[in-house]
Amino acid sequence: METLTTAPLCENLPPLPQRTIEERRKLKIKLPELLWVEKLMRKNAAHMHARTEHTLHHDGMDLPIYSLTLGSQKPASPTLLITGGVHGLERIGTQVILSWLQTLLERCRWDTHTKALLAQIHIVILPLVNPVGMLNNTRSNGNGIDLNRHAPVQANEKTPFLAGGHRLGNWLPWYRGKTGAELEPELAVMIKVFKRYMQSPATTLGMDLHSGFGFHDRLWFPYAYSKEPIANISDYVALKLMWERNYPHHNYLFEPQSMHYCTHGDIWDYLYDLNKAEGNSHFLPLTLEMGSWNWVKKRPRQLFNFNGLFNPQLPHRRARVLRDHLVLLDFLCSATLNHEQWQPDKKMAESFAQMAQGIWYKARQ
Ligand SMILES: [Zn+2]
Repeated sequence: METLTTAPLCENLPPLPQRTIEERRKLKIKLPELLWVEKLMRKNAAHMHARTEHTLHHDGMDLPIYSLTLGSQKPASPTLLITGGVHGLERIGTQVILSWLQTLLERCRWDTHTKALLAQIHIVILPLVNPVGMLNNTRSNGNGIDLNRHAPVQANEKTPFLAGGHRLGNWLPWYRGKTGAELEPELAVMIKVFKRYMQSPATTLGMDLHSGFGFHDRLWFPYAYSKEPIANISDYVALKLMWERNYPHHNYLFEPQSMHYCTHGDIWDYLYDLNKAEGNSHFLPLTLEMGSWNWVKKRPRQLFNFNGLFNPQLPHRRARVLRDHLVLLDFLCSATLNHEQWQPDKKMAESFAQMAQGIWYKARQ
């Protein structure tokens, strides 16, 4: 058995920023999630490769965007991509990822099932895409741009006023940035990491964690720019049916984002189409939208705390959210590893695509 004090492998740990006591104090209060990521990196260099993808400079501090990779390094291995903190306000998403990762890394040390899983799949994590936004408690990044309205994608449906993305200016939320402007570094990192790891014929599942919409936890999939089904809609039907058969008491609504509203500039629309254009059809990005209005309903006082609209405020409620999604994340690992067992063949795909019409797209027929 490996000990908890495995010596770090230097090549797995990038140089970490040198911080003054005052900077550490500030981060402890305003951005503890970044310190949590760095702690996991330092403790687990034997099991996880960390890389500094970009360093943002804000308020006199260096705020890196890290990528963390675990598991098989073979390009043909199926991949699970997990991202969080795209919207700085929604810090619970980053916390859910780190809580799950902490468990996974501990299990790497003793559990042969976990070791066997990681020998066969590749896990890529961007736990905190927008550190400046999270430090400032804003949805947008440091330049006032909403990173999930910023990708070069134009909706071909009506979008909600402002919330669907606009170019009026960064004094309003949901700002897309100027037409044709250079991509913001946070989005450029997501695209760079996606291109580095994902564009292989192997199946890739993805999950981006958000909070703030409605009373239910939802699993959304593309498109956000169109109400038409995506090319591999049958894969989503298969995944939904398998999830529901295996976890009949689950509490997620599984649906295309366009069932609720359409937006411009959705990062997953962009990456999905990018992948498809290169002839790789088995990419299944999901967005977990944690229904944070429930936390507000249970504690209306949170309405007066902007942070409280997007994150559970009481310790027991936060702990519940951190454990609530562990099963889903483990399920996605197994689904990634065993994709050949559930992805439909051509004949099944046709009937699943018809089923998708009945479940999600009926209103358009
Ligand atoms: Zn969000």
